[in-house]
Amino acid sequence: MLMSGKKGIVLGIANKKSIAYGIAKACREQGAELAITYLNERFGKKLEPIAEELGCSSRLYPCDVSKPEEIEALRDSLEKDFTKIDFIVHSIAFAPKEGLGGHFIDIGKEAFNVAMDISVYSLIEISRVLKPLMSEGASILTLSYHGGVKYIPNYNLMGVAKAALEMTVRYMAEDLGRDGIRVNAISAGPIKTLAAAGIGDFSFMLKWNAAHSPLRRNISIDEVGKSGMYLLSELSSAVTGEIHYVDGGFNIMGMPAVEFDEDGKPHIAWNGE
Ligand code: NAP
Repeated sequence: MLMSGKKGIVLGIANKKSIAYGIAKACREQGAELAITYLNERFGKKLEPIAEELGCSSRLYPCDVSKPEEIEALRDSLEKDFTKIDFIVHSIAFAPKEGLGGHFIDIGKEAFNVAMDISVYSLIEISRVLKPLMSEGASILTLSYHGGVKYIPNYNLMGVAKAALEMTVRYMAEDLGRDGIRVNAISAGPIKTLAAAGIGDFSFMLKWNAAHSPLRRNISIDEVGKSGMYLLSELSSAVTGEIHYVDGGFNIMGMPAVEFDEDGKPHIAWNGE
């Protein structure tokens, strides 16, 4: 029970396919007490069975991160129900459709600002507002993607947001390190979720990742969950400012590995669908 006695808030569960759900489940299985959030009433109703399963039916709070007053209300609820918190999971991103395909230089200023606000600034704001509640040794975790480091087709605006998010993790790690608070990100490989459905040609991305990863397959939210639990627990007590890849090794490849069939013909071998 690696998370026994730990209390934390998980933002970004839309359904049981969400990466945040995988992380919440792994933490709960290791004894953590959770609170979770939803974007608006429509999604809140859908989250009730998940909250029940995660043992937090009474700690299901609204929080649209674009509304500062909702982040402050979240702090008040957490203070009332938990007094102190030991971890925050920020698993939230959004970019308007025009930012996830087409010509990169056609992205408008408004779309750019919305993506940066929800996908990047929210991590800073949530951490600042919840900081008075955070225990020494507390851990903050966010979610990134390799498209913030290298070009990935159609990831466009979200790539720029993830680059900013990864740098935010490093600056926050330094700033909060003096209070014993750690800040890390997981850079996950592609997973079919609601957010991913908005990215053009996502199924091709999945195939490409499986074909070109050392493990020759895609990853699951349970695998991100286990790694997330590690970064939120004492197991990673000296780890901060890191971007930890959970992607089957895709990011290390400079060229796909070629194998040869019986006739000596080269091909790319993989186990995916
Ligand atoms: P997801 O299940 O759709 O989760 C995204 C979450 O962000 C949803 O719960 C969504 O809420 C929430 N959200 C969007 N705008 C919000 C706002 N204004 N206030 C509060 N919440 C808001 O998709 P996911 O793939 O698990 O995404 C989680 C994180 O992982 C994101 O940062 C994503 O970029 C990252 N990531 C995903 C992949 C992948 O391939 N799936 C890979 C690497 C990194 P609603 O659903 O209620 O709108």
